[in-house]
Amino acid sequence: MKIVTRRAVMQGLATVSATNASAQRPAYDVAVIGAGVFGAWTTHHLRRAGKRVLLIDSYGPASSRASSGGESRVIRCAYGADEIYSRFAHQSLTQWKDLARRVNTPLFQQVGVLHMGGRGDHSLKATAAVLSKLAIPHQILNQSELVKRFPQFSLTDTEQAIFEPESGALMARQSVRLLVQEMSQQGLEVILEPVQPPSAKSRLDAVKTASGRTISAGAFVFACGPWLPKVFPAELGNRIFPTRQEMYFFGAPAGDRRFTSPAMPCWIAPDNMYGIPDLENRGFKIADDDHGPPIDPDSADRLIPKENLAAMRKRLAARFPAMKHAPLLESRVCQYENSANGDFLLDKHPTMDNVWLAGGGSGHGFKHGPAVGEYLAARILGSQPPEPRFSFSSKGTVQKRSVY
Ligand SMILES: Cc1cc2nc3c(=O)[nH]c(=O)nc-3n(C[C@H](O)[C@H](O)[C@H](O)COP(=O)(O)OP(=O)(O)OC[C@H]3O[C@@H](n4cnc5c(N)ncnc54)[C@H](O)[C@@H]3O)c2cc1C
Repeated sequence: MKIVTRRAVMQGLATVSATNASAQRPAYDVAVIGAGVFGAWTTHHLRRAGKRVLLIDSYGPASSRASSGGESRVIRCAYGADEIYSRFAHQSLTQWKDLARRVNTPLFQQVGVLHMGGRGDHSLKATAAVLSKLAIPHQILNQSELVKRFPQFSLTDTEQAIFEPESGALMARQSVRLLVQEMSQQGLEVILEPVQPPSAKSRLDAVKTASGRTISAGAFVFACGPWLPKVFPAELGNRIFPTRQEMYFFGAPAGDRRFTSPAMPCWIAPDNMYGIPDLENRGFKIADDDHGPPIDPDSADRLIPKENLAAMRKRLAARFPAMKHAPLLESRVCQYENSANGDFLLDKHPTMDNVWLAGGGSGHGFKHGPAVGEYLAARILGSQPPEPRFSFSSKGTVQKRSVY
């Protein structure tokens, strides 16, 4: 990966062709700030359109502080009646598979995804209607079919479920890193240092990095995930809500294959718990999708309090009786970067007209990286009409989640 380190920049060793703000032609067509999943795929699509792009990140692609930095993420097409996200996920899956082929790494694991519905849950019906309309393969399973097929689950709260056999899990950090590495090998310049919050009345000519470097570009994409409220406190300080989320990897009994694929798919339960089967012998991953407390992505320690572990053990045992005595093998603390309702923010800055905002992944953004990048690149290039749900003006200031 051709990375220009902060040190190199400070020592004047950088190969980046940054200019000062008064130069006639900006050094880059687009500078993308943020090498998480949204920034990396936006860079990919802009480069495919022939644009000169620079990618900048404080900590490096999909670092442990970033929302994209985990081991794995679920990719599913089921989104209730929210067809736009089903389309985005479906479109993205093809591109994830293409990337996996190009870099010759199993970045997508087709383990299937099981959506369990509780009593009176109408979202499964809406999901099935959308999946049928989009010709996305799925099976509807009633309780007795579920009990037969997934005996390792306790299903007392589950009436029926939808199974997506062609969906599954993405190797998250690895995917973003390999995508950036691929682009880097093809000539993309990557700078590793923070960009200072920009300020301009209408048009932004250049940004400054922490070491004082000035980088000019025709357009700027701030794909800063949970950092967006810090970069744009006035505009996004009360519109993007970073929350602390815990993930646990538990160890199944030796020789017990019920918690790995093909016996175990990715699953989402009626009580908002979800899980990913053991993918790399790391353990059976389980997490709660409910929003945690606020978090600072720069300074937070990523430790799990004992009482939270105890509560999670109880829930694990309730859902999977065979895991009652399972040891905790690993844990992670990450953060969601929520918009008020869960819709993405992919739009121009309200006043700086060559500045674009990309974020609000809201705990479900990873899978959509390729489609987000494609959408945003097309908007920047002027070939894509705006989607109202992704607009800045639609972003509320009170958290009321409606997209899952
Ligand atoms: C625990 C957990 C589970 C999840 N599960 C799923 C799932 O199963 N399926 C799914 O689809 N999604 C899931 N998500 C959501 C998904 O991971 C996120 O929505 C997505 O990764 C957000 O990507 P991003 O590029 O917007 O942000 P990030 O990955 O956080 O990237 C932002 C980048 O910007 C950089 N940056 C910030 N400020 C600056 C600056 N000033 N200068 C330079 N660089 C800067 C940061 O260093 C960072 O690398 C989950 C998220 C979490 C936390």
